[in-house]
Amino acid sequence: MIKFFDFLSQNTLCVTKECILRCEHCHLWSNPVFQKIKVPKISDDGFDLFRSLSDQERNRKLTAVGDVSDLIQAGQFFKTFKKAKVFNVIGGEPLVCKELPYILGFLQKNKIKVRLWTNGVFNLDVLDQVKDLVDEFCFYLPSCDKKGYRLLTGFDGLGILEENIRYLQAEKRHVILNHFVTRSSLPDLPEVYEYARKFDLRLYLNYSVHAKFQRESIAYIKRFKKERKVMVLRKKNFGQDVCAGVHFDLWPRHDLETIWFQGQNCFQEFMRNLAWSLHV
Ligand code: SF4
Repeated sequence: MIKFFDFLSQNTLCVTKECILRCEHCHLWSNPVFQKIKVPKISDDGFDLFRSLSDQERNRKLTAVGDVSDLIQAGQFFKTFKKAKVFNVIGGEPLVCKELPYILGFLQKNKIKVRLWTNGVFNLDVLDQVKDLVDEFCFYLPSCDKKGYRLLTGFDGLGILEENIRYLQAEKRHVILNHFVTRSSLPDLPEVYEYARKFDLRLYLNYSVHAKFQRESIAYIKRFKKERKVMVLRKKNFGQDVCAGVHFDLWPRHDLETIWFQGQNCFQEFMRNLAWSLHV
């Protein structure tokens, strides 16, 4: 379990830039380089999609740091990534990375807690492979409406996401939802909040500092901070090759501005989780 003080020591590990979804606002797949990656055909049958994943050729050069498994095997991992209490494992979609169980096992052996930032639309076999290696599942919720989800992501996946939330909750795993607030999703925030309440889940709302929201819109988003189990975070990484649902910058980046920005978010998570642990 991740304790509130763990949030003060976080790092980010991008394991792949592939994804099975095609979110409208995602910078990853709209990048011409990534469009060359073969992805399974998105169909109505999610399980066909998952079956085809195992045969999919992986393009390792597209991970943030080359092949993470090679770094581990060469004993070089902590030369590239500073040790931290918590590693945020991100993508693309981390669950399409074949080496993920190996990488997570390595982190666990090194007593590092893992938050897995995933779109969550996988069958249970895939989740079962990693569920004992993950301390917190952070599920990306682009839309809480079935039709809206399909329109936004190109895939009819909300039912699968819900099934997986229920499964992990029954297994007593820690799950949070995160939603990327865009100008078009702004009116849906009350529904997104109610959706998280329905499952009694913590909700992270993140918005881009580059999105040119009006002052009133920012104030409106921030109003949700007052709600129980909601955290509002700013992010700077929009336009980077990282899943839109994630509020972390790609790492390793050592410029002071990034460190300062990430530090602020870590501190905010620490404070909010401290309040949650005291049931405030
Ligand atoms: S935003 Fe995230 S879930 Fe959506 S296509 Fe991009 S990487 Fe995949």
